Amino acid sequence: MTEKITVAGVRVDTRHWIGGERVASTETFTDVSPIDGSAIGEIARGGPAEAGRAVAAAKAAFPAWAATSRAERARILHGIADGVETRIEELAIVETTDNGALLRSHRRGVMPRVAHNFRFFADWLLKLEHEDFETRGHTNHVSWDPAGPSVLITPWNAPLMLATWKVAPALAAGNTVILKPAEWSPLTASLLADIAAEAGLPAGVLNIVQGYGSEIGDALTSHPDVRRISFTGSVPTAKRIAASAAANLTPLSLELGGKSPLLVFADADLDLAVDLAVEQYDNAGQVCLAATRFLVEESIAEELTRRFVDKAIRLRQGDPRDEATDIGPNIHPRQLEKIDGFVQRAIEAGARAVVGGHRKDGQFYAPTLLADVAQDSEIVQEEVFGPVLTLQTFATEEEAVRLANDTRFGLAATVATGDPERAERVTARLVAGTVWVNCFFVRDLQAPFGGSRHSGVGREGGTWSFDFYCDVKNTVTAPNGWKNHG
Ligand code: NAD
Repeated sequence: MTEKITVAGVRVDTRHWIGGERVASTETFTDVSPIDGSAIGEIARGGPAEAGRAVAAAKAAFPAWAATSRAERARILHGIADGVETRIEELAIVETTDNGALLRSHRRGVMPRVAHNFRFFADWLLKLEHEDFETRGHTNHVSWDPAGPSVLITPWNAPLMLATWKVAPALAAGNTVILKPAEWSPLTASLLADIAAEAGLPAGVLNIVQGYGSEIGDALTSHPDVRRISFTGSVPTAKRIAASAAANLTPLSLELGGKSPLLVFADADLDLAVDLAVEQYDNAGQVCLAATRFLVEESIAEELTRRFVDKAIRLRQGDPRDEATDIGPNIHPRQLEKIDGFVQRAIEAGARAVVGGHRKDGQFYAPTLLADVAQDSEIVQEEVFGPVLTLQTFATEEEAVRLANDTRFGLAATVATGDPERAERVTARLVAGTVWVNCFFVRDLQAPFGGSRHSGVGREGGTWSFDFYCDVKNTVTAPNGWKNHG
């Protein structure tokens, strides 16, 4: 295999990164750009052998990294953040070439956020403490002990951002890492290996294995030396991983899909509500948190829909490297097939395309809004992961909450209302890991993040991340019993 390829002028090593060395596989797979369907390069295709080697490297590196002071770990993480900031342009163009998301978002939002992931968890580590407390004169002291090698498995829709949202806290916690990026977007993870090495992260502390989840996944998640598994991806894969992890009772954190609602009440600021609605087409609809179900109060449904369509049809689809583009291509022909399958089955079942409802030339799907959809229909119940939204109306607050909660998911919910008391009543009853009121996608890394029901298991973010990646210990010390110490 070719070991290094050039992607939009950036050199990317396509081998695994294990124990501080580049490791080739005899097999490869072809990475394809969603922008024009061209082959980007051949990527190492790992299997059980590479998985075993990566876990062994992480196990060997663990004692020294766990014993490294918090201050030194934080210093190295800030060094990685510096490296990311220096290479924002390179990371942005490689990510856009690989997954088709907008270059301008990668430049201005996503890659700075990648650096922030490292800075935030480095700083949080330094202030992580629980005040000691007393029990009948005994002192209780809580500590967060590094747990061991951690397998992190991530999806393609925001590859480096979602990977580093796990890598940063796991490394801060004193764990060593085996990262398995998605096979549709493997490149920026490889650049992260270079950046981490340059920042002085010791060999074996971060390992990156490439390949298909179906071929390398089980060897990672069933490995007895793995102490934590954090996964972001789909529900079916999560079930397979949970079954595989069960053999060793390996603790799991699962961040999964969603079918989140946007509830718009008649008392809402309609301009704001329309903006919130149109925002749901971001990243060509490939956003786990997207509010894909519009639930709109009957009395304003016509007006809201008219204004929404007016904006939606002006969105520019095209080359994601172009500053003027609003929506880039979908990731893969298979994803496009899947999206269109959902839409055509919905239309056959009686749905009406208010806008869109079809594929476009290239790897694009027309921004779509489907009305006349039944609550129990596939299009309302299942995650599409494309630019496809549904419209339903409600007559009462009660009905709005009932419809909002009536799927098997519970990742997020967005509420547009001009009445703070209504906001309080409604948000209290919504089943969701995150609820936004009159806003969307405001994310603070210290907030708990995760989903309810089939949208996930556990929470990460701030101290919740350390609770997951560490063995939390309570040490109780009696007031007496000391010998020869005065
Ligand atoms: P996916 O489940 O197909 O793949 C995710 C990762 O799992 C990939 O790296 C894949 O190689 C790996 N994998 C596949 N089979 C495996 C196995 N048997 N063992 C171990 N690993 C395996 O998901 P996807 O299509 O890449 O991502 C889209 C999904 O991710 C959507 O459902 C989306 O909602 C979800 N998502 C959730 C969040 C969140 O934070 N909740 C964020 C982004 C995406």
